[in-house]
Amino acid sequence: MLIQGLQRLTLLDFPGKIACTVFLGGCNFRCPFCHNSELFTGKPEKLMEDDAFFAFLSKRKGLLDGVCVSGGEPTLYKDLPGFLAKIKELGFAVKLDTNGSRPEVIKALVANKLVDYIAMDVKNSPAMYAQTVGLEQVDLAAIEESLRFLIDGNVDYELRTTLVSQLHSDASIQDMGQWLGSLVTEKKPNKLFLQSFVDRDTVLFAGLSAPETEVTVGFAKILEPFVQEVTIRNT
Ligand code: SF4
Repeated sequence: MLIQGLQRLTLLDFPGKIACTVFLGGCNFRCPFCHNSELFTGKPEKLMEDDAFFAFLSKRKGLLDGVCVSGGEPTLYKDLPGFLAKIKELGFAVKLDTNGSRPEVIKALVANKLVDYIAMDVKNSPAMYAQTVGLEQVDLAAIEESLRFLIDGNVDYELRTTLVSQLHSDASIQDMGQWLGSLVTEKKPNKLFLQSFVDRDTVLFAGLSAPETEVTVGFAKILEPFVQEVTIRNT
């Protein structure tokens, strides 16, 4: 695996778990607000060998409960199932962060009991999706398939949207909510986190900003009819 980062401890990223986060390089999206742009720009550099990562995990048995596997986009890796299986064999729960573009991978990981929790990005309304992920076109059918699988399935999950003033508006959030609410008949998504964009040196595009708090609160109200629980993070 192209391990490009390791956060040795997180109390926030995996609900109910004391965890570490491993970052895998490479992504098929180019979200202009991405914090991890160094993971897919320039020459990919492997910062840690798999053996060193598993040696680290072995020493954390009994101290950590879980491992967040983040990116980049982890589902692009063919050897992800084997990587997750080794984490599970060591006794850790697995959380997967994904952009939802590879529903077949997500389904196979769940079917094989290789993930315990999935956090999937919902970037924006269908009409704004491609622009929000920095592409000319995006396979919305694949995103919808992943969303339906999570909303209608049995694996624990959360949806999350990073809010950027230049990309999100009342109209796009309204459309996103209606879209989310329409994907599975009579079943709303369980929880959606709204998180504000935070500027950093590693962001792909300069000049982006987060909405004001009252705008974010307004977005949450717009989304409430379509999602069981809408929570604002880090505003
Ligand atoms: S924000 Fe996520 S999906 Fe978007 S480019 Fe970055 S790693 Fe990929």
